[in-house]
Amino acid sequence: MIRVGVNGYGTIGKRVADAVAAQPDMELVGVTKTGPNYGAEAAVRRGYDLYAAIADRAEEFEVAGLDTAGTLADLLDVVDVVVDCCPSGVGARNRPTYEAHGVPAIYQGGEDASVADASFNARGSYEAARGADSLRVVSCNTTGLSRLLAPLDEAYGVEKARVTLVRRGGDPSETDRGPINDVVPDPMTVPSHHGPDVNTILPDVDVDTAALKAPVTAMHTHSVNVTLEDAPSTAAVRELLAGESRVFLIPERAGIDGAGALKDYAADVGRPRGDLWENCVWEESISVQGRDVYLFQNVHQEADVVPENVDAIRALATETPREESVALTNESLGVGLDSLLSDGGTSRTPVTADD
Ligand code: NAD
Repeated sequence: MIRVGVNGYGTIGKRVADAVAAQPDMELVGVTKTGPNYGAEAAVRRGYDLYAAIADRAEEFEVAGLDTAGTLADLLDVVDVVVDCCPSGVGARNRPTYEAHGVPAIYQGGEDASVADASFNARGSYEAARGADSLRVVSCNTTGLSRLLAPLDEAYGVEKARVTLVRRGGDPSETDRGPINDVVPDPMTVPSHHGPDVNTILPDVDVDTAALKAPVTAMHTHSVNVTLEDAPSTAAVRELLAGESRVFLIPERAGIDGAGALKDYAADVGRPRGDLWENCVWEESISVQGRDVYLFQNVHQEADVVPENVDAIRALATETPREESVALTNESLGVGLDSLLSDGGTSRTPVTADD
């Protein structure tokens, strides 16, 4: 059993903790919180051992009536791997602590790539992560792009990818983020940092990205154009992506027209927290014109990196091959949506412009 600790129990940390607890070859030893808020209560209710992230504040848990099993240092003494899910930049500050305890660490995409020995995405760089003492699971957007570009590059060669990312303004629980009533370029400079981040996973793929932020909380939307070296048919690209276990092709007849319906669908099929671990690609948006592929995909920022963290733990701590780890993660979590309404993407509804 790989003994795992999760340091930082927020949006990503609580999901990673649940995913680790669901693995047959992993034991979730415990999670940390900085203070006794509703997140700490949720961890206790799930039966997870709670550790005080900041030793000086350990007493606060006791005063609030929440038992702790110790401090972060105690947790680090008894785990094989720590998954850092702290806010961006805090992971880098935690690194000396993990190193002092000799515990291999997995960081998240809000950290600079230099925080770890290698950046990680199970589809794009699992084997390259071998031998690393630390890994950084790339961001939600980079994860979504890597999962898409890796198979396209392998099958047809990517000459140039151009992606516009319409990013969610904040997560549903983040009341202090925005914009509240605008769509703003962010960053204003083009290309954005996302393309170079994809290159930490797929160094040979030429990709430019431009990003905006929109007043939505559910998901990111990517408008993708990839110029390929070959000229496959639209049907062939649809089939290729349908074969990817972490890509969900949304069937046209499902009537899913955006993030709201997607999250509704996820809840209806019983997904915990309505999570979508897969890239969600609108099947009828996949279109090949000459050597250019076009498509729209949505990425659930709170969820798509979760199975990647599980695979990163195995890549770091075991000799498990990629296919085996991905299959085990998928099976134990239930990754891989397969709609009963899939029809191979043959039907098309013509659309008339009205603005
Ligand atoms: P979050 O704010 O929801 O959660 C972070 C948690 O860490 C909070 O509970 C916070 O109280 C806690 N924390 C703060 N300082 C701490 C410390 N010193 N020790 C232990 N815990 C501490 O943040 P998040 O959205 O889960 O993001 C975590 C990381 O994951 C970031 O690097 C982020 O960029 C990355 N990420 C976030 C998303 C997303 O959309 N939310 C997607 C992919 C990757």
